[in-house]
Amino acid sequence: MKISCHCANISIDAETPENVTDCNCSICSRYHALWGYYPPDIPQISTGSHGTECYTWGDAELEFVRCTKCGCVTHYRTAVGQPDPLIAVNFGMARELVADIPVIYYNGAELL
Ligand SMILES: [Zn+2]
Repeated sequence: MKISCHCANISIDAETPENVTDCNCSICSRYHALWGYYPPDIPQISTGSHGTECYTWGDAELEFVRCTKCGCVTHYRTAVGQPDPLIAVNFGMARELVADIPVIYYNGAELL
């Protein structure tokens, strides 16, 4: 399926995930994200001329990527050198695409 930020500067092509994760940690709850996880080389991510920005904090293990034009957070990726690299695509941008897919509720607020 194809999913993109609001202005279509960032577009992502990825298979439909088996499930999506709704995490209540401090960052995911603010983004209101629904994450679908992939090996880092699988989603085809293309970025237009407006480019991207990253947000990290703390140990900077994760890089949250957003569009510099419309501001949508499209995905996050593990930083270089982290074990178990992955990319998480934000299906919160297109909830209708994952309406029939199981949602895993992750208690990141307590566990992270
Ligand atoms: Zn955009």
